[in-house]
Amino acid sequence: MTQVADRVRHILDALPEGVLLVAAAKTRSPEEVREACEAGLRAVGHNYIQEGQAMREALDDLDIRWHFIGPLQRNKARHAVRSFDVVETVDSLRLARALDKRCRIEGRTLPVLLEVNSGREASKHGVLPGDVAELARQVSQLEHLRVHGLMTMGPFTGDPEASRPYFVITRRLFDELGAMDLPGVEMAWLSMGMSNSWQVAVQEGANIVRIGTAIFGPRA
Ligand SMILES: *Cc1c(COP(=O)(O)O)cnc(C)c1O
Repeated sequence: MTQVADRVRHILDALPEGVLLVAAAKTRSPEEVREACEAGLRAVGHNYIQEGQAMREALDDLDIRWHFIGPLQRNKARHAVRSFDVVETVDSLRLARALDKRCRIEGRTLPVLLEVNSGREASKHGVLPGDVAELARQVSQLEHLRVHGLMTMGPFTGDPEASRPYFVITRRLFDELGAMDLPGVEMAWLSMGMSNSWQVAVQEGANIVRIGTAIFGPRA
């Protein structure tokens, strides 16, 4: 068994039932991702449109769901809609409208997650916690998008416990939005936690974890 396959099996075994492992595949080769898929991985996340498209083509024979997990520019909406099954990083109405327009042209609906800037960091993407409900309401009115949950990164310190408060904030928003019962909004997926923090994220309610390094090793 390869090291990548071994690590994927290990993580899949450790994840509670119902938690989806998304392999964060930026900078990796299609061959590395194929190994991960052969060990049972079912979803791959990409931060870059072109690299993601090329990887999807190279792995076309596999049954995988493709998640877009990077910052998305509006002028790339067409490519995102064509090549990804889910966009986890919607953080503005303008971006949502651009995606909706492309979906209309392509004749599809797109599940999206709203990215929350849970640490209120000036340098980070994502909608501020206090603005999430309003964005959800607005996006839910777009005909071709389906709001299916929230995603957050949180400030990165290297200490997994330092991430916990940001996961808690996001989980609380997730529950609040779910309780609001907005038409067209279904709070099904809560995407949080990376290689160093996924255990903490799962404890705080994540049901998608996005993991790169702990599967593929350090990035070059
Ligand atoms: C790279 C990346 C990850 C995974 O990071 P690792 O620390 O390598 O596990 C998760 N989410 C996003 C949005 C990323 O860009």
